[in-house]
Amino acid sequence: MGSSKPRAYGVVFEDTLGKKHVAYLKREKNNEIILSAGALGSPQLLMLSGIGPKDQLDALNIKIVLEQPFVGQDVADNPLNVLFIPSPIGVERSLVQVAGITPFGSYIEAIGGFNVIFVNLSDYQGYTPEEGGFIYEKTNGPLSKGNLTIVNRNASDNPSVTFNYFSEPEDLQKCVKGIETILKTVNSEAFSNYKLANMTTQDILDLNMKIPYNMNAHGNTSTSLEQHCKDTVRTIWHYHGGCNIGKVVDDEYKVLGVDSLRVVDGSTLLNSPGTNPQASLLMLGRYLYFDIQIIENKSLSDEFPSTITSFEKLLGNIFLPILQQNIY
Ligand SMILES: Cc1cc2nc3c(=O)[nH]c(=O)nc-3n(C[C@H](O)[C@H](O)[C@H](O)COP(=O)(O)OP(=O)(O)OC[C@H]3O[C@@H](n4cnc5c(N)ncnc54)[C@H](O)[C@@H]3O)c2cc1C
Repeated sequence: MGSSKPRAYGVVFEDTLGKKHVAYLKREKNNEIILSAGALGSPQLLMLSGIGPKDQLDALNIKIVLEQPFVGQDVADNPLNVLFIPSPIGVERSLVQVAGITPFGSYIEAIGGFNVIFVNLSDYQGYTPEEGGFIYEKTNGPLSKGNLTIVNRNASDNPSVTFNYFSEPEDLQKCVKGIETILKTVNSEAFSNYKLANMTTQDILDLNMKIPYNMNAHGNTSTSLEQHCKDTVRTIWHYHGGCNIGKVVDDEYKVLGVDSLRVVDGSTLLNSPGTNPQASLLMLGRYLYFDIQIIENKSLSDEFPSTITSFEKLLGNIFLPILQQNIY
């Protein structure tokens, strides 16, 4: 009432049989939609709902509800570079136990004893994942940013995303130092039982260059660690951004320029550490739940169970698409 801003008032969603439904907010003060479709989903759904860069919406004949050039911008993914290190003895099957957090922004972790990268056994070039380990480094931040664009008006189709890994030299240097640290560890006395004595650093780099998970590899050898980083970079699915705080949402995660609409998920993050983001995102959901309840002056004890069973419970019915015309 009294606001000239567009207001979110409902969602369109499909059931498991593909039938479309519309759910409307009750006309009560403070009711709102919370969008939590993740870094790839939330920018896409905002755009499909008419909130986004004018050129993209115009190109797909989407009615503009709010021209917002920053939706889908500054999308980033923490670069991951993995080294498989063959061992002369069997290695205990293990997931990550410890994260090595370096002062220069590279986070180092290890997994051992099984085919964690899910390639064909022949791709190990005569070695086996049971006798070997994977040591990898992830870059925090990163400074390198990309963007997300929608390719059509179908919410079920993937958007197009470009992360521009290592476009900023500082990110590349973090990777180089991370790989140097891994190689130093592998060549140390403490590691000697788990490294083949005749295997050189160059052998390790070249072996990894030939494993087919390296999408960018353009040769069979690494001529520099910079090139190795670029050639072997891959995702660890820690993408974030696209609805960045300060540009698309305010510090209460409300979409700027729109009433009754928040985005609460990884798309709001400006940076992500080299460790795993899920715990931080769960805390974000939990924090916002309390924040919203406190703002609305509701009784927490009535609605917040002493044992939290799920994130969905905290945030309510949030995993629903918002489509064009459903925000006005
Ligand atoms: C394979 C994999 C392994 C990972 N391993 C780890 C790990 O070990 N530790 C860790 O901390 N992090 C891990 N991550 C990263 C972590 O899962 C994400 O950082 C985190 O889940 C992001 O949370 P989010 O709330 O932003 O989005 P998400 O958790 O992705 O939630 C978005 C939800 O929205 C739904 N959605 C999207 N679009 C629509 C639509 N149009 N309509 C309806 N629903 C929609 C999605 O199905 C999803 O349920 C992993 C990610 C992947 C992909």
